[in-house]
Amino acid sequence: MNNSDKLQSLRDQMVETQLKARGIYDPRVLEAMRSIPRHEFVPPQHRHLAYEDQALPIGENQTISQPYVVALMTQMLRLSGHERILEIGTGSGYQTAILCALAGHVYTLEYYPQLADRAARALSRLKLNNVDLHIGDGSQGLADMAPFDAIIVSAAAPALPGPLRSQLNSQGGRMVLPIGDRSEQYLEVVTRQGNRWEMEQTIRVRFVPLVGRYGFKTIPRKDSPQNDDQAAGV
Ligand code: SAH
Repeated sequence: MNNSDKLQSLRDQMVETQLKARGIYDPRVLEAMRSIPRHEFVPPQHRHLAYEDQALPIGENQTISQPYVVALMTQMLRLSGHERILEIGTGSGYQTAILCALAGHVYTLEYYPQLADRAARALSRLKLNNVDLHIGDGSQGLADMAPFDAIIVSAAAPALPGPLRSQLNSQGGRMVLPIGDRSEQYLEVVTRQGNRWEMEQTIRVRFVPLVGRYGFKTIPRKDSPQNDDQAAGV
C-alpha cells in the first residue's frame, strides 16, 4: 500500500469506529470526513496521531478538535450545500475545510494571526477556494457579511453572544456553540424563526475558551505579556 492509500484507510477506519459507531449518520458529513485529509492540519510532530480519537495541540495553547466533535457539530447544522456559513475559531482550519466541502461559502474568523496563517496555507494546499479567512475577535461576528444561514463556534462561550444571535438568518438559521463555564459546557443548537430563537441543549463538552468582547475575561499570567487564556483542550 502506498502512503496515500494508508492514510485513506486510516480515515475510513476513523469514520467507521469513531463516527458511525457513535451515531453520526448524515451521508454528506461522513463523505467529507472520509475525504478531507486531517493530517494536513496537524503540526508535523503530532501527525502520526492525526486519525486518533482525540484533540491535538496546534500551538498558541489551542487544539484541533476531536474528529467526532467536528462531525457532530457539522451534522447539527444540517447543511444541504448552498449555505453561507460563519465559523468562529478557525484554529487549524480542519473544521473550515469540512464546511467548505458541504456548503456554499465559509467566512471564518481566528483571533491568533499565527494560527490563521497556518490554516490559510493548509486550505490553499487543498485548493479550497470558497472561504474567506479574517483575523480578529469573532465573538462580535462579521456584521458586514450577515446574515448567515449557519454559525458554528469552536470555542466555549459564557453565554450566547448578542451579535451572533442577530447575524443568524431569520428564516430558519442554525447555530451550534458550546455554552458554559471554563471547565465544562453543553453544546447548544440555536434555531431562529423571525425574532424567536429556540435553544436546544445537547451533550456535555470541553472546549478552549472564547476570548474577546463576548468571551471569557483573560487571566493575567506572570510569564506572558499577552494575558492569553490557558487552554483547556477539547
Ligand atoms: N475547529 C478548530 C478549533 C480550534 S480551537 C480546529 O479544529 O482546529 C478554538 C479556536 O478558537 C482557537 O484557534 C482560538 O484561537 C479561537 N478563538 C478563541 N476566541 C476567539 C475569538 N474571540 N475570535 C476568533 N477566534 C477565537
